[in-house]
Amino acid sequence: MNSGCDVIVIGAGIVGAACARECARRGLQTVVVDEAGPGGGATAAGMGHIVVMDDSRAQLALTGYSQRLWRELAAELPAETEFEMCGTLWVASDEEEMDEVLRKQGVYASAGVRAEVLSGSALAEAEPHLRRPLSGALLVPTDAVLYPPSAAAFLLRHAVRAGARFQSSRKVVSAAQGRVRLDDGTELRAPRIVNACGAESVRLLPELPIRPRKGHLVITDRYPGFVRHQLVELGYLKSAHSVSADSVAFNVQPRQTGQLLIGSSREYGAETTGVNYALLAKMIDRAQQYLPGIGSMQAIRVWTGFRAATPDKLPLIGPWPGDDSLFLATGHEGLGITTSLATAKLLVGTMLGEKTEIDAEPYRPDRFAHSGEAGSGAAQAQVPAHSVEGSHV
Ligand SMILES: Cc1cc2nc3c(=O)[nH]c(=O)nc-3n(C[C@H](O)[C@H](O)[C@H](O)COP(=O)(O)OP(=O)(O)OC[C@H]3O[C@@H](n4cnc5c(N)ncnc54)[C@H](O)[C@@H]3O)c2cc1C
Repeated sequence: MNSGCDVIVIGAGIVGAACARECARRGLQTVVVDEAGPGGGATAAGMGHIVVMDDSRAQLALTGYSQRLWRELAAELPAETEFEMCGTLWVASDEEEMDEVLRKQGVYASAGVRAEVLSGSALAEAEPHLRRPLSGALLVPTDAVLYPPSAAAFLLRHAVRAGARFQSSRKVVSAAQGRVRLDDGTELRAPRIVNACGAESVRLLPELPIRPRKGHLVITDRYPGFVRHQLVELGYLKSAHSVSADSVAFNVQPRQTGQLLIGSSREYGAETTGVNYALLAKMIDRAQQYLPGIGSMQAIRVWTGFRAATPDKLPLIGPWPGDDSLFLATGHEGLGITTSLATAKLLVGTMLGEKTEIDAEPYRPDRFAHSGEAGSGAAQAQVPAHSVEGSHV
């Protein structure tokens, strides 16, 4: 069936929704298909921390750009997206980590991101429930938090208002050469197809170098004002940036409801959505080392989700070599909520042959086309059906 459109976006997680919105706003006739509804997948499982990260220059550029786009959009975001610019405190527990605070501040400054060094006493004043003593922290005031499924639904509504058509409960079984085949045998056609299926994108393109990386989150009962910023240990950088080992790190977020969202874990090779209680215990223990009061709190839900990890920890945004119709917007690992808006800008800019605001080169999928790493994820990419055990409150 000729779908009478310019672009078919497969996947209505936060990345697909952002891409559809950008396509539609730029005048492209856009169809979005998702096997479920908007904002499922990893988007429903994510923490919603809009954070600038500096693991590499390319990551800093993408997260910094996207964080700015979120700030620009903030005034339009409806209340249910729970957007709040609470800032991040990168907590240093010793002098070595304070050195990292200073290094990080310098790198952020070079990218135009404001960040302030807090002494141990200033940190204790900013977050009285943190254990004492701690050496200090880096405060990044422009970092924010939001509730990802509502944000994805908002972006999709915008796309539809700009003319996009959304088809839910439609599972794609193949997508290539301008043809998208659904599981009921229907064929949709368009000159451009965007694979925005997150950790499941390998099902449609087994050559993709993407592996699922499982994570756990816990949400507590309501304890208003217990923490005021997103709190992350500087040791988080070691665990988040490791590409092999399973790890946990202290990462706690205040929700508008007064609840605390406690993370986080990273695990390769886990194939089921079930809770890994040993890892969960380590994660809670880590959080308690920083916030002793957590020990007496009531947890109300635990869930898991799968991040779409690439070997170089950068997403795949742009054309897929070997098929002129195929574009990718996937592989965002633990930063897809943050980088969704920038991904959409880069994707559509690349599609339309325009100069993009930041250099799109580092994220181009063809960096893996001849590296021998393409396909490394396929064997391990059987992502279990959706991973959320209960929704985030
Ligand atoms: C525990 C955890 C914590 C996280 N915390 C953060 C955070 O604080 N900040 C941050 O920036 N990021 C975070 N992330 C990462 C973030 O959640 C993801 O990068 C992001 O949600 C990816 O969005 P997506 O749209 O690419 O994929 P998804 O949200 O997975 O969406 C993919 C969509 O594609 C659809 N789909 C898949 N296959 C098909 C098919 N064959 N046919 C039709 N539809 C299909 C699915 O139904 C789904 O709706 C976290 C992730 C996890 C797991």
